[in-house]
Amino acid sequence: MKHLSTKTHWQELAFISTIAIFGLGIIHISFALIGILCYISPLILYLKYKDKTWCQKYCPRASFLNKTLGKMSLHLKRPKWLNLKEVKDFFVIYMGINLFFALMSTMGVAFGRIESMPYVRLFMAFRAPIDLPQLLVLNLPEALIHYSYRVFSMLLSSVLIGVVLGFLYAPRTWCTICPVNTLSVPKHLKQNSGKRA
Ligand code: SF4
Repeated sequence: MKHLSTKTHWQELAFISTIAIFGLGIIHISFALIGILCYISPLILYLKYKDKTWCQKYCPRASFLNKTLGKMSLHLKRPKWLNLKEVKDFFVIYMGINLFFALMSTMGVAFGRIESMPYVRLFMAFRAPIDLPQLLVLNLPEALIHYSYRVFSMLLSSVLIGVVLGFLYAPRTWCTICPVNTLSVPKHLKQNSGKRA
């Protein structure tokens, strides 16, 4: 989006990381664990700089949406519900529940309490219609495989929402409701955060 005047060379190339994570997940799901950096890095940068450095300079997802949808987006008028606080809060809670269940179910698998789910689940609820091929055979703990699938599922689900929104409205429309955006905006600016994303 043109509102970002601090675009960097890295941001132009960061989309490759998004493609790489999904591509490597096809080779072996454990590579999806690299995607955890997309959850930890914004937090570290926010704690350090108290601003939106991650969003403005590094986010691979935003870069991916810009690159893939830059010329394809229909640029329809953005609906008002995207700016609602309730919608933004919903996605923060959704992300929190997602992360919580991913961790708890992994512990359950590790302690033999529940069966692992070695497949992709979209939006926490639906098994993906296609299984990942897994070109590499690695003898890794079941819990690690389970957690890798959970991370891959979280990343893929949010990218899918981002692609649909980006195609309809503008490439980075997802940023409006992205939990990182909601959580990293200083309180006194939160009311206007949707307009800037
Ligand atoms: S709001 Fe979310 S998707 Fe957009 S740049 Fe920030 S972290 Fe990336």
